[in-house]
Amino acid sequence: MRIDLHTHTLASDGLMDAATLVAEAGSRGVGLLAVSDHDTTAGVDEAVAAGKKAGVEVWPAVELSCDVDAGEAHVLGYFVDHRRNWLQVLLGRLREGRADRAARMVGRLTALGVPVTYERVATLAAGGAIGRLHVARALVEAGHVRHTAEAFDRFIGHGGPAYAERVKLTPVQAIEIIRASGGLAVLAHPGWGTGDEMIRDLVEAGLDGLEIYYPDHSPSQVEQYRGLAERLGLLMTGGTDFHGGSMATRVPVGSQYVPESIVAPMREAAARRHPQATPPALELLAR
Ligand SMILES: [Zn+2]
Ligand SMILES: [Zn+2]
Repeated sequence: MRIDLHTHTLASDGLMDAATLVAEAGSRGVGLLAVSDHDTTAGVDEAVAAGKKAGVEVWPAVELSCDVDAGEAHVLGYFVDHRRNWLQVLLGRLREGRADRAARMVGRLTALGVPVTYERVATLAAGGAIGRLHVARALVEAGHVRHTAEAFDRFIGHGGPAYAERVKLTPVQAIEIIRASGGLAVLAHPGWGTGDEMIRDLVEAGLDGLEIYYPDHSPSQVEQYRGLAERLGLLMTGGTDFHGGSMATRVPVGSQYVPESIVAPMREAAARRHPQATPPALELLAR
């Protein structure tokens, strides 16, 4: 059985709706799939329902984008109770922050002489959580860059001339949100540059696991993070970060090796975790 615990749909910046993603995963032999859109759980119910028909087990998940000194860190939340009203209010505020940020990046790109319109970016987001990948796709469409990676390299990557900051969420806050909603907090793709020291700090803040098996991780990184997870007593996960087509990691759904041995510890940890009675005290919720 293939396992893919990191995928995106049209609800954020993927190219497939949830039902199409599940069908595609099923046709590639995936028996266990997690739908982990950025700052939204809008694709989860559709994916779970499609999974029941297709014989694919679907885990609810979300991927929260956080700012750290070195750039960005992403925290995956597995088994979050997405019916909690406060969680939806909070995710809604994060998405509003994304829309504001996309508008500021559009302004900067226009000033740099590589104009795209906010309307086009929003259309590419198709009503889902707007992200930099949508801005990148608009830049490709307008002929300013050849592919989305070039858009990040030249304009909208962290520190780039059109880069704009988003509503700030720290990884510690993301962990707090995920745990409060009954989920397991897993640091996504640590190979993006989260140092081991920061990982240790996040473990103190309640981090439950590390994403080990990931297309951009070299074999030596996989070994390094497996060793770290073992030493720190962390869960291990993995997935493709599939967005569809040639976007992001550019590999087909289910194509990343993820051992079945990681599944039972995840299930056991999830069974022990319960949503908290009260939402976390965060400024984003207090407004
Ligand atoms: Zn990510
Ligand atoms: Zn992702």
